[in-house]
Amino acid sequence: MTVTISRTFSVNPHVTSLIDGESVPLRASGEDIAVVNPTNETQISQLREADADEVDAAVRSSRRAFDSGPWPRMDITERKDILYSIRDHLRKNAEELAYLECLNTGLPLHSVRGHVQRMARNFEFFAEVASTVHGETYTQTAGYLTYVTREPKGVAGCIAPWNAPLALASMRVATCIPWGNTCVLKPSEYTPLSMRRMVEIFHEAGLPPGVVNLVNGRGAVTGNALVAHPGIDMVGFTGGTVTGRAIAAAAGRNLKPVALELGGKSANIIFDTADVERALDGALAGIFGNNGQQCLAGSRILVQRGIADALIERFVQRARKIRLGDPMLPTTEIGPLAFRQHMERVLSYVEVAQADGATLLTGGRRSAQHETGFFIEPTAVLAPHNDSRVCQEEIFGPFATFLVFDTLDEAIQIANSSKFGLVTYVWSEDLSTVMRCSREIRAGTVWVNTPMMRELRAPFGGYKESGIGRDGPQASLEFFTELKATIIPIDPVKMHRYGAS
Ligand code: NAD
Repeated sequence: MTVTISRTFSVNPHVTSLIDGESVPLRASGEDIAVVNPTNETQISQLREADADEVDAAVRSSRRAFDSGPWPRMDITERKDILYSIRDHLRKNAEELAYLECLNTGLPLHSVRGHVQRMARNFEFFAEVASTVHGETYTQTAGYLTYVTREPKGVAGCIAPWNAPLALASMRVATCIPWGNTCVLKPSEYTPLSMRRMVEIFHEAGLPPGVVNLVNGRGAVTGNALVAHPGIDMVGFTGGTVTGRAIAAAAGRNLKPVALELGGKSANIIFDTADVERALDGALAGIFGNNGQQCLAGSRILVQRGIADALIERFVQRARKIRLGDPMLPTTEIGPLAFRQHMERVLSYVEVAQADGATLLTGGRRSAQHETGFFIEPTAVLAPHNDSRVCQEEIFGPFATFLVFDTLDEAIQIANSSKFGLVTYVWSEDLSTVMRCSREIRAGTVWVNTPMMRELRAPFGGYKESGIGRDGPQASLEFFTELKATIIPIDPVKMHRYGAS
């Protein structure tokens, strides 16, 4: 069933920060950043950048909410009720959130609707997990009881990217606050619209002021001020590897722990033992889903030689038929890229590929069908070898790179010859092939005969330069809580009495 957009929603002409549950008034001075609709390249709003003073106000508010506010001290049933209320309010406002996200990012409305449902589930799921947290007791040492409790860690700086703001920023917040932490969220400066509404909805749902504060602005200004702020206890970051490195270095100077969900150049391996029809569908979904802008894209498509020519030809035929267009339309499969500079960066890889001796199979240019908008034709290249830059660098667009391999060992070796290690897709009906890939490929997730399937109960994150840490019940518990051991003697202990005799 296709559902068209039922109505449009108003767009705030000026987006500011949201601190202590209140919209920050527009200051007389400050940097304004244009918020652009990538489908028609028009300005739809303006973001007033939060400077270091505004970030300081936000961190102080989150600090107060943590150090003396109700949230960390609240009975878990009450905290859970508020998190469930957030889930319900997100669902109630799903169309508005999806509309704003689609307008600002160019992601197809039908897929963004799915993201809103996912974010609602994220809050429900981590509320459940937090409600089951328990400690440990030790009684082995005679005369003593030792118990270990988990406590929320404090105030987090949460930083999110532009490629799926609702899904990813909500994950940052939903893995952080259920344990009793508070946070300051900084979304990407390119996509503030749905983020601002999301944090308003948190408050409409009953979240106490200061538990989630929102600051908006560029990474070098607002983000930097947040990460360097001494009032932050930890940083949760989703974004690019270069930025992740800078954030880890800045946080490290203050000895603050970081959880990093970073980039990828994931292998999508299609063996000649695969169900080729399904593998073809999976390869197309893996690189063209989310307008090609996804960390977990299967962007290096490795095909076994015997099936390579036919499969690549059919991939190209299908890529040429993908419906590119207005992301609000239910028939659209790929919308525009999120902003001009990004589109130009993606297109620059056509020359990079050709300089490395790759063959352009299809696409590689702006869409001729669209006079405005950051649309590019779904693109595919065949690379001569895995050392090519198009095999090693994250392009982050609808840009597939094919490689041909001969043996299972070679496929595993190519998959692992990358500085990244986020995910891998494996297509084969042969159990031993699948098991070898699962065991030997160095990536945080291996999807077998399926496109992306997010299992919230399992950890998600990357090996190598794809990240540090994981999102998931156990991993988020470890990152967002502190362990405290309390040691109590059953009877008064004998002590040496210094200076008593
Ligand atoms: P980015 O690294 O440019 O920006 C991410 C966020 O960091 C933005 O909010 C930005 O303003 C902020 N930022 C930039 N410099 C900063 C600094 N010095 N200090 C503090 N904050 C700073 O990433 P992007 O272009 O927004 O997103 C795309 C990248 O994110 C891709 O590499 C993609 O693979 C990655 N990503 C990873 C995951 C994952 O789960 N592993 C998910 C989605 C996206």
